[in-house]
Amino acid sequence: MTRPIRATIDLNALLANYQYAKQMSANNAQALAVIKADAYGHGAIAAAKALDAEADGFAVASVEEALQLRQANIKSPIVLLEGFFSAEELEAISHYNLQPLIHSQQQIEVLHKHPQNKALTVWLKLDSGMHRLGFSPEQFITAFTELTQRPYIKNIICTSHFACADEPDHPLNKKQLACCAQTIKTLGNPPASLANSPAILTMPDSHYQWLRPGIMLYGSSPFAYPHPQASALQPVMTLTAELIATKNLEAGETVGYGASFQVGKSLPMGVVSIGYGDGYPRYIAEGAAVVIHGIRCPIIGRVSMDMITVDLTHCPQANIGDTVELWGTQLSVNEIAAHANTISYELLTKITQRVPRHYIGNTTGE
Ligand SMILES: *Cc1c(COP(=O)(O)O)cnc(C)c1O
Repeated sequence: MTRPIRATIDLNALLANYQYAKQMSANNAQALAVIKADAYGHGAIAAAKALDAEADGFAVASVEEALQLRQANIKSPIVLLEGFFSAEELEAISHYNLQPLIHSQQQIEVLHKHPQNKALTVWLKLDSGMHRLGFSPEQFITAFTELTQRPYIKNIICTSHFACADEPDHPLNKKQLACCAQTIKTLGNPPASLANSPAILTMPDSHYQWLRPGIMLYGSSPFAYPHPQASALQPVMTLTAELIATKNLEAGETVGYGASFQVGKSLPMGVVSIGYGDGYPRYIAEGAAVVIHGIRCPIIGRVSMDMITVDLTHCPQANIGDTVELWGTQLSVNEIAAHANTISYELLTKITQRVPRHYIGNTTGE
């Protein structure tokens, strides 16, 4: 017997979302499937295998994440979104054919001091207004020109990242686009990559040669409000647990830690086998619901480490052993994220290791 909780991952939906991202491009751009942070909590190896035959490449955050994929026999190009952190990583980057991002002069110097025999493809990062990683436009042109002359560099792809693409009307988007367009033009139009999920869905001018879809692959909208382009995405993870106990609560009784919820009119209550130890957010606002038999049942009382408690008033047929959906095909993870004052990215990546991932759809990647 195992604790009744699982994250069911629909690999067909993942593939459909990847294909949808590519369809958004009018100029047949290629797409790096962003599978950092264990594919946003979905399992990087399973995700990579499901996409390997179709994907033009993958993007991860570190050499460790990339090696996990190479050890699982993933042959596609892999881009390291933060490049390398020290010279020790260069040998593995070269040996395993990884493509580091270069965002600083320090990294260029490290490359120069430790030239590898096999020439590298690198992604050179322009800071077009995010002000996190990357070179200013002037530094970028100098760095690009310098790297072009190095024998240990094979290809350079210009890249930049949007700060506000999830708010399509934000003025910074136009500024970043213009900064990139100008810089890329100055360099004679080398290949470029700007678009994350929200830009793929709403900013065709940002598509260039390489898209970088992340959250949209997992079927979660990058926008805080309903958006027509995002409505076609198919949820990939359905998180479910079970009703493990039910009881009736009388008026005036309280539920759970801190006795924070007091019963008004007597109500049937259920206990569900998931808690913050599984990654379900503890700071969830009143009004958040779970789904049982297709019916929304509100969470009452505090989220515990291993359990939550729900009001079964509208689902009198609910019984011990019934499946409870926390998010997925019936209840969007974005809605739960809004109730927890966060974004779907955080909820998905925080599902802990004790939640078994169960894969459905084409699990062979063929
Ligand atoms: C994570 C990441 C992405 C993917 O972003 P989404 O909003 O999930 O689509 C793209 N590019 C870079 C540089 C990233 O770090």
